[in-house]
Amino acid sequence: INRDDRYTPLLTERKQRIGRNLSISYRQPLKIIRGALQYLYDDKGGTYIDCVNNVSHVGHCHPTVVKAIQQQAATLNTNTRYLHDELISYARALTATLPEPLQVCYFTNSGSEANDLAIRMSRHFTQQKEVIVLDHAYHGTSTVAMELSPYKFDGKGGAGKPAHTHKAVNPDLYRGPHRYDNPQAGAVYAQDIEEIIKKISGEGKGIAAFICETLLGVGGQIPLPPGYLEKVYQYVRTAGGVCIADEVQVGFGRVGDRFWGFELQQVVPDMVVLGKPIGNGHPLAAVVTTQAIADAFNNGMEYFNTFGGNPVSMACGKAVLQVIQEEEMQQHALQTGEHFLQGLRVLMNKHAIIGDVRGHGLFIGAELVRNRVTLEPAVPEIDVVVEKMKDRGFLISTDGPLHNVLKIKPPLVFNKENADAFLWHLDQVLEEVIA
Ligand code: PMP
Repeated sequence: INRDDRYTPLLTERKQRIGRNLSISYRQPLKIIRGALQYLYDDKGGTYIDCVNNVSHVGHCHPTVVKAIQQQAATLNTNTRYLHDELISYARALTATLPEPLQVCYFTNSGSEANDLAIRMSRHFTQQKEVIVLDHAYHGTSTVAMELSPYKFDGKGGAGKPAHTHKAVNPDLYRGPHRYDNPQAGAVYAQDIEEIIKKISGEGKGIAAFICETLLGVGGQIPLPPGYLEKVYQYVRTAGGVCIADEVQVGFGRVGDRFWGFELQQVVPDMVVLGKPIGNGHPLAAVVTTQAIADAFNNGMEYFNTFGGNPVSMACGKAVLQVIQEEEMQQHALQTGEHFLQGLRVLMNKHAIIGDVRGHGLFIGAELVRNRVTLEPAVPEIDVVVEKMKDRGFLISTDGPLHNVLKIKPPLVFNKENADAFLWHLDQVLEEVIA
C-alpha cells in the first residue's frame, strides 16, 4: 500500500495510542478537515460528496444546529437533576413526532446505550429474559447490545450466540428463501418468529422483547416486506413480549414517505430507540416508550444518566427537529430518493453487476452480484467500486452479510444534482470494473 508519507506520524501514533481494532476507511486514508452540509473537504483541497452519513442528518455543521449548541454551551451545561426548560421542550417536540402511546423519553449518549436500556426495561416489564433479533443485525457495541447483534457475536472474534438471544431469518426478498415474486413473503417470514416463540415457551421460558430495525442497515439495506411487522408484533405481543423498533439509522424523515421507518409497516412499537441523526453528530440518543413500560421500570431504583438529557444536547436535538421541519427535509428525502432510485434502476438495466436496487427515500442499497441467477456476490469488485468512486469525489460504503451491498444514505440536504453526478460517475466506474 502506497500511503501518503505525510500521514506516517499520524498513523504511527494512532497505532500506539488508539485501540487497534478500529479500521480506517479506504486504501489511502482520508484526512477530512472540514464539513459543510453534504460536502467534506480533505487536507489536500479535495472536495467530496458525503453519500454515506446518516449521522450528519441535516448536513455537516448545519448553522442552525451549530448555533444552538454554541449558545447553550455558553450559557449552561449540567445534569438533569435540576429543572430545565430545554429538557421538557425537547421531549415535547420529540414525542409530537411519534404516535400517541409513545410519550415517555429517556435520553442517553449513544444508540448502544439506548438499546441496552430498552432491553433492560423490557425485562422489567415482562419479567422475562429471552430476546428475538434478526440475523445479521447490529444494535450496538455495549455488552447487552452486542448480545443482540449477530453481526458481532457470529463474526470474527465473536463469542457466539448467547442462550437468551434467538435469531430469526432476515426477511430478504432478493436473496432469502422467500422473494419478490411471493406477495405473501411478509407473512411467511413472520412465521419464523412464531416458531421461535413456540420453541421458547416449549422450554418453559418467556419472551421479553423482539427488536429489529425498520429497514435493515447492517443486514444489507433491506426494506421489510409488506405486512411483516404487523404479523411479527402480533405474535410477540400475544406471547407477552415487547416490540422494540431500532430507528437509529432510519429515523427522522430519511425514508421520505413517512417520518419513522416503522410507519412504513403500519405498526406502533412499544419502544423506539433513536440515535445517530437525532443530534446531527452530537452524542445524543433516546428511548421513547409507553407509560405502562415506564411505570414498570420505575421500581424504586433510580435511573440517572450523567450526560443524558443535558441542556446542550437538548438544544441541539431541538434545532435538528426544527431544521427538518423548516427545510422540509422529509419531503426532500422522498423526492431526491425517488429520483436516485430511478437512476440506479436505469443503471441496473445497463450493468448486469447490479442485481438489485432497493430502499426508501434516502436510505438506499444496490446489491452487486457476479451472476444474476446464482447471486454470487461481486466481491472484491465492490471494493474497487467504492475506491474508484472516492477518487471521483463520492464517499460510499458497503454493507450486508456478504459485503456486496453499496450503502447510500447521505445527509438529507443531498440533492438531485448530487444524485445525477453520482449516477454519471457510477456508470463510468462500473464500465471500468467490468472491463
Ligand atoms: N443500532 C443501529 C441500527 C446502528 O446502526 C447502530 C450504530 N451503527 C447502533 C444501534 C449503535 O449506535 P452507537 O454507535 O451510537 O452506539
